[in-house]
Amino acid sequence: MTVIAVGGWHHETNTFAPTLATYEAFTRDGGRPALCRGEDMLAALEGFNLPAAGFIDTALAQGHEVRPLLWCEATPSAAVTRDAYERISAMLIEDLENLMASDRPPQALYLDLHGAMVAEHLDDGEGEFLSRVRGVVGDAMPLVASLDLHANVTAAMVDRADVLVAYRTYPHVDRRETGERAAGVMDALLAGGRKPDKAFRQVPFLIPLTWQCTMVEPMASVYDALAEGEVGPGVLSASVLAGFPLTDIPDCGPSVVAYGRDAEAAEELADRLSMAILEREEAFDGKFYSPDEAVEYAISRGGEGSGPIILADTQDNPGAGGNADTVGILDALVRHGAKGAVLGVMCDAEVAAAAHAAGEGAEITASLGAKSGQPGHTPLTGNYRVERLGDGRFTARGPMYDGFRMRLGPMALLNLDDVRIAVASAKQQAADKEMFRHLGVEPAEVRILALKSSVHFRNDFTDVAQEILVVEAPGPSIADPAKLPFKRLRPGLRIKPKGKPLGE
Ligand SMILES: [Zn+2]
Repeated sequence: MTVIAVGGWHHETNTFAPTLATYEAFTRDGGRPALCRGEDMLAALEGFNLPAAGFIDTALAQGHEVRPLLWCEATPSAAVTRDAYERISAMLIEDLENLMASDRPPQALYLDLHGAMVAEHLDDGEGEFLSRVRGVVGDAMPLVASLDLHANVTAAMVDRADVLVAYRTYPHVDRRETGERAAGVMDALLAGGRKPDKAFRQVPFLIPLTWQCTMVEPMASVYDALAEGEVGPGVLSASVLAGFPLTDIPDCGPSVVAYGRDAEAAEELADRLSMAILEREEAFDGKFYSPDEAVEYAISRGGEGSGPIILADTQDNPGAGGNADTVGILDALVRHGAKGAVLGVMCDAEVAAAAHAAGEGAEITASLGAKSGQPGHTPLTGNYRVERLGDGRFTARGPMYDGFRMRLGPMALLNLDDVRIAVASAKQQAADKEMFRHLGVEPAEVRILALKSSVHFRNDFTDVAQEILVVEAPGPSIADPAKLPFKRLRPGLRIKPKGKPLGE
């Protein structure tokens, strides 16, 4: 039996997004647990589709003892403030130091990290944190960290952690499973022998989020190659990371890590996997629709077949730094008379409150959206009928958010010219059917469904979708990396598939 310390810290930083992540952003219960520390952490994480939860259950089943540190996550946004980063880092380090000085100090450490965290004063949030952690536990202690598939992996992260283990799905349905795999890797490290050899490759082009989905090509077969490659002898673990392309740092982009007892096997697999991505470069360059083009197409097809035509409002995806309050697609739906269409989930606490004050069946004159004050965005003013109200408290049931206790504040289903809008008081990516069922809408029965999500919606909506269109409506979460004002990427990187290398 080994004593293993467990902690976690997640933030996905879109350096182009409008709002910084403050300390309070990590203490909010956004469906996932709010910042939790010590013994409370174990109860708070229980039952969640989260890596730390999977790791803890597996490590306990393996007969190890788990000592909790701290776990927290904030919704993706612009950089973590210096204050938040330093406070959380200090808390985690303090907890680790206390454990190290206790009667039963940990002999191993597992960290549930994201890998794309940028702070106001640091490009490489996780690399810096792992360095501080090594300062406490030393170089010898086995240290396994799991990462989000969107991690922008840096040499510092690879150097400080013995093994990095990443999600293999986007939508992220395997978060818990990733923690279970990390526990398997940790168990193998604890079984003895020298530390594994590492291979690390950075892939030289950014992949737009919308084409990173592992449920469809070209990513599906890259992950098939990963699963096959890992079976080979000498390989302990390997991961393919699609990267988070909305981060203006030198290490932005996809990468591959492989670990082995046999250095050559790890190097060979890392080469093979990075080649698998390079070979598919052209296929990563998918089509983006304008709002008008998408709505016209959806109206022309909406009556045929079954299930909705889904319009992914990717540039206002709150899961990638958007505020879920732009009205580009809504405006196009109303202008084109897309009767029966539903859009969600729009974040507008003011309008939700007005709807609750007016009551079901009432009509309110409201200016919906654009409350986060992003330049160039205006609300859509009109007479909205309040069709249905909800308290925003429900449990998600789709594969990815399964068991997440949503707390979206007062919600309302509004109707403007037979286009219906699900409005909430807190922002949350539209990636679970329960968000609509809470307001009496069955997504399978809708003809056109616009979702504020890039890819995660596919986990719970693919089974009903007739077709999925990725729409480039104005918003802060730019879908085509070639349209972002990058300044700090490394030379030679192509900012989109088949794009021109920087510096040439
Ligand atoms: Zn992610």
